[in-house]
Formats: sequence, structure tokens, C-alpha cells
Amino acid sequence: MARSLRNGDFDLTLAIQSPSSPDRWYRVLLDRASARVGETVLSCDCVGWRQDARNAPARRALAAGRSDTGLRVPRGCKHTDVATTLLGTAGGGAMPRYRTDHPYVGATRTRWAPLRDFVPEDGWGMQEARITVSAEPYHLVLLQATGTTGTTATAAIAFAAYHPATLGSRAAPVGEWGGYTIAASFCRQAGVPLAGEPPLHFAEALPGRSAPRRAPLQPGTSTRAILAIGDQRDLGDRLTPAQRAENTLRLFLGPQHALLERQGFLDVSSGLTAGRVYRLRRDPQRRYERRVRVFENGSYTRDLCIVRAQSVPEADHFLTLLFGLIADERRILSVVQRGNIFRTYSDGQERETMPAVWQPRTGQAAAAA
Ligand SMILES: [Zn+2]
Repeated sequence: MARSLRNGDFDLTLAIQSPSSPDRWYRVLLDRASARVGETVLSCDCVGWRQDARNAPARRALAAGRSDTGLRVPRGCKHTDVATTLLGTAGGGAMPRYRTDHPYVGATRTRWAPLRDFVPEDGWGMQEARITVSAEPYHLVLLQATGTTGTTATAAIAFAAYHPATLGSRAAPVGEWGGYTIAASFCRQAGVPLAGEPPLHFAEALPGRSAPRRAPLQPGTSTRAILAIGDQRDLGDRLTPAQRAENTLRLFLGPQHALLERQGFLDVSSGLTAGRVYRLRRDPQRRYERRVRVFENGSYTRDLCIVRAQSVPEADHFLTLLFGLIADERRILSVVQRGNIFRTYSDGQERETMPAVWQPRTGQAAAAA
């Protein structure tokens, strides 16, 4: 499988705004494979990193036969420098707590429905700081979430101070990038590196060479739609809450969204019981929630009825359930009381033709380290 952000090989360490355009963001990614062996290999979307500008003089000297050092400078840019500093200082320390009515926390919880359930109201922390990136002033936001299982994830979003901004105008990007980073991190720490692609991507085609275009945006997802916030109606994007929820689901699932569309369900392997698979199905009309079919060692054994909170779009419910079974399966099961367990085919007669294959969770030790 190709190494990519969507395949879970990379962590989004920092989302940093371009000083020249407020809609452009660079993603600094940490290569997890390098992190596992104690190294820090970072990549960035910017031209400087992709052209390996720091090593250009050495390369030229080598080509001209004027160099015998063979010295290899690690690839980097001003953005990876910031991320390196962040990784060295942020650590896992607890940050000052903020209430859920803070605009940043509110935007994150609104845009990423699973985080409303998985992160308790007192589980949000935040820090802000002025930093400088190559003489450019930046406003750094660190958003931290501690889930119901005690797992912690932190997102870093840096705004170029050159662009006029308010607490309110920063809330949407913080919610978007922060929610994505945190939700993806929780999944990876639970051993399911299924993270979708990040919400925005900036890739500039390089003249005369093919740019490494990672994780292109899904078709039909406009920048406005991506930055829109959950259930506010008047966002000027003409999207309904249901459409926006579908965009979030699509962004998070990445290629798995197409699989879900095609087969009508996604399987989640249990992290608690070997051989158990939860099959999450979707109503083709997106009107109501379907019961979860449970498989034990390949045999379809029962249905679970997990109802959705009032007034939540169906896509939000699906994502919340999927995320919950990955990140806090014990809690999801605890809310399924005896009265919500049904015999097979209690919710439709569709026959199961696809085998439900259990796969063990991966990387739990590495993620916990
Ligand atoms: Zn860069």
C-alpha cells in the first residue's frame, strides 16, 4: 500500500497559513515510520520543501564537480522548522482547560460530530502564542482534546498575522484542521489508521516537473464547503447541514467513502473481542439509521440498535458510531442495553453476501509510546 496521509503513515503536525493568501494552508506531516524508530522526518506542501531548496547549492556544487563533501542536509523548510520546535516543546503536557462555548472548541465540536461524544465537556485544552516564522509574525493555536478513554491528541494551527482575523474568523479553520487532526489521531491511537484526508490541501504545480500531489481533494468539495461549520445554516455555501455532514464523512473516510457508497456498509473489527466485526450499514435514502449487524467469527449473530441523537444529520450519526466503535468501543456497548439487542434480520431482509473478516488492531504499542 502506498504511504500517504490517508493510509495513516503520517500525522498532521501543523497546519500553517500562507502569508500571501488566507485560503492557502501548508500541511506539515510527520512520517510515523520515522517516529517509530526515534527520528523526526517531516514533510511540507510548500515549494521550498518540494524543491529541496536548502540542498540546492550543495546539489549544484555536486553537479559541477566542485563538491567532495557528500554532505547530506536533511530536507526541510521554514514550516518544518516550526513543527520541529513544536514537537520538541509541546509534549503531552496538559493545557489550560476551556469551556465548550469557546468559539474554537465550539467550532471543532460542531464540525466533527464524533468529538462531541468522545471528548467530555471538560476535556478541551488550548494555548495560543505569538511566534515568528522567517521574520513573519504568526498566531499559533494549540488545541488539545482528552477523550473518554483518557487518550489525548493535540492539533497545531498557525495563522499568518498579516491577515486580519478575529476569534470568530479563526474558529472555522481551527475547527476544521483541529477536529480532523484530533479525530484522526484518536483512531490511529486506537489501532485503526483509517484517517481520511485532511480538509484542505495546497499543491502548486511545479513548472517542468510533476509535483508530488498528495491527497487531492474529493470532487465536489469546495473550499467554502470545507470551511463551513456544521449546523449553521447561513454560511453562504448553500449547503444544508446534511450535505455538510456528508462532506465531513467523506473527508474523514477518504477512499473508504467510495467503498461505503458502493457496498452500503463499512466493517469495524472489534478491539475488545477477537473475531467480532460490526457491520455499519446506511440507508440508501439517508433518512434513518440502520441497525448494526454483529458477526462473530464470520457468522452473523445479532443486531444492535443504536439510535441517533435528535436533529443530528444521518451522516453525523454514522461517523459518530463508526468513530465510537473504534475509539471507545466499551462505552458504545455500555449504552446498548439488553432491550436494544435484536435477532438477525430484525431491520431488513438483505442477505449478507460479503464475508465479515476480523482484523486485529495495529500499532497500539507504537501509538501509546
Ligand atoms: Zn514548508
